[in-house]
Amino acid sequence: MSKVYICFDIYSMSTAYYIVMIDLHTHSLLSDGVLLPTELVQRANHAGYRAMAITDHVDRSNIDFAVPRLVKALDELKDHTPVKAIPGAEITHIPPALVGMLVEKARELGARIVIVHGETVAEPVIAGTNRAAIESGADILSHPGLISMEDAVLARERGVALEITARKGHSLSNGHVAKVAMAAGATMIINTDAHAPEDLISRERAVIILKSAGIPEENIETIFANSQNLVDKVGRD
Ligand SMILES: [Zn+2]
Ligand SMILES: [Zn+2]
Repeated sequence: MSKVYICFDIYSMSTAYYIVMIDLHTHSLLSDGVLLPTELVQRANHAGYRAMAITDHVDRSNIDFAVPRLVKALDELKDHTPVKAIPGAEITHIPPALVGMLVEKARELGARIVIVHGETVAEPVIAGTNRAAIESGADILSHPGLISMEDAVLARERGVALEITARKGHSLSNGHVAKVAMAAGATMIINTDAHAPEDLISRERAVIILKSAGIPEENIETIFANSQNLVDKVGRD
């Protein structure tokens, strides 16, 4: 079931075999996660991750608190961990008219992956948030719930990735998200939305979640590649 990927390990300066997991949606105690950013990276390292984003919940009250601290902590760590840890933000429960301004603010403050907390069926997110997220130029629309075909087509056009999630509750609509995203040709990625170390998953588990959402085996490598492409893109900027 699990596949082994060949990578060049910059630490041992040799080719190593890893089961690689990339997870671009996690939370530290800078919002409602339970771990310091540094411990979250180390837990992810131990879980076999090679790239991740820490994307704490932000609104106007804490965006200038959380994002610069993530930037500072992850910048200091970068030569001391094999995990590429990217500072990000998740714009959460913001009225749709204000989403674009917060996405821009997050980027100004140094967030390299900007997520908008989509219209999950697990929480009363304001209708119109999915559309505002896509129009705002966020990188990822997380758990977009019962996303419409029109919004999925717009996500494809704007290059916004639609999230398949490992998180309980939010994952109820994974099947719908996958179906609409595939029909629209929109990019999908898989994330954990981890708030605690036990929420981190293996690549093998990610494959099971993707298949459970009705995604055919032949599409699964593309979904992992989409995460890698986003990591490469923000690394280059
Ligand atoms: Zn949360
Ligand atoms: Zn989240």
